[in-house]
Amino acid sequence: MVACGACRGTQFAPFFQAREWTQSGRYLASAQSAISAEPIKLLTEYCRQCGLIRQVPGAEVRLDYTGISRDTAKQLPDYAHRVIASMAELGVGADDLVVEIGANDGTFLRAMREAGYKNLIGVEPSKDLAVRAAGSGFTIMNEYFGRSLASRMVSQYGAPRAIICRHTLEHVPDIQDMTEGMAALLAPQGVAFIEVPDTDWVISELFAHEIWDEHVTYFRSGSLVTLLQNSGLVPLRMERARFRDTRNLLAWSVRAPASADTPPALLDDITTAADLADFQARWDRFAANLRAAVAAAPRPLVAVGAAHIQLNFLNYTGLDGDVDMLVDDDPVKAGHYAPLAFAVPIRTTTQVLETVRAGTVLRTAFPYPGWEDRICSALAPYGVDSIKPYNFK
Ligand SMILES: [Zn+2]
Repeated sequence: MVACGACRGTQFAPFFQAREWTQSGRYLASAQSAISAEPIKLLTEYCRQCGLIRQVPGAEVRLDYTGISRDTAKQLPDYAHRVIASMAELGVGADDLVVEIGANDGTFLRAMREAGYKNLIGVEPSKDLAVRAAGSGFTIMNEYFGRSLASRMVSQYGAPRAIICRHTLEHVPDIQDMTEGMAALLAPQGVAFIEVPDTDWVISELFAHEIWDEHVTYFRSGSLVTLLQNSGLVPLRMERARFRDTRNLLAWSVRAPASADTPPALLDDITTAADLADFQARWDRFAANLRAAVAAAPRPLVAVGAAHIQLNFLNYTGLDGDVDMLVDDDPVKAGHYAPLAFAVPIRTTTQVLETVRAGTVLRTAFPYPGWEDRICSALAPYGVDSIKPYNFK
């Protein structure tokens, strides 16, 4: 038994398991391209002590981020500027060293620079993304972050007054190595800002499509606080922030509290241990209801979107053999095939609007309901109906 990365507990129980046909991010060139004979199993479990959810150690879907080049330039939320403003409120000056861990293509560092920060360093393991971020003029360490890199960075650059780590911690196998590295790197008066998806939202909304092979760990507020406190960081303030159809946890921590008599503004978990134990059964009931509705719907079946959230959804609901076509305008996907139970063609919105004259649209765009509406209203005159999946919860 591998101990819990947050509380070191050793009692785990099954959370959610599903299968997928390939790792995320793989698209096929032709309808004849081979799909793996055996689907991959995605197995997750939760810590009975602190509620941390993780992929079962030893059975994780291992990804090599050095070769991944998916940028997140379009993923900067509207509250990012509030996060940047909070740095000044917490005493981070324009000339102070700021390190971003998981700097991606430099999107957030550029926003920091626009806000006046001049001394910015990024850490990014992807070769391609590191080159792109460095192209914006930042010093980028093209490595994975942990205690080892932290000690080298302290000797090379000194201790940063602020560390930013957005949507990175949930991807790493050894969470404590990353958070202890942050505590070791941070200046004594410094602040660490960490942002992760809020799994309370996934559980309460039954959004299993957000459970993803790239995410090794799934945090709720309680397990994130436990991890920080066991890593030498003191969480001061937490918030929940909606972004499209998801919700994130934002946590500001310091090395030592400024004043012992100011209670930190932390958050309680919203969902309970019983909700964790019941998640799989709720999902299975929902998926069976949805499959029954889809079985009765006219064909072809067209699902909106071909990104990981849609492929997760189709894999996990058991609709992976039912969709005839996916709609996606991303050039990496359109014209290719999605590896589900068979190679499913991916068409652009324009192609779908010009050719589909019967059947059913499955509204799986999730963060982009306006896109679904546009497709559905254009095809409605031909008698094409639509199904909104989560209406079957
Ligand atoms: Zn735990």
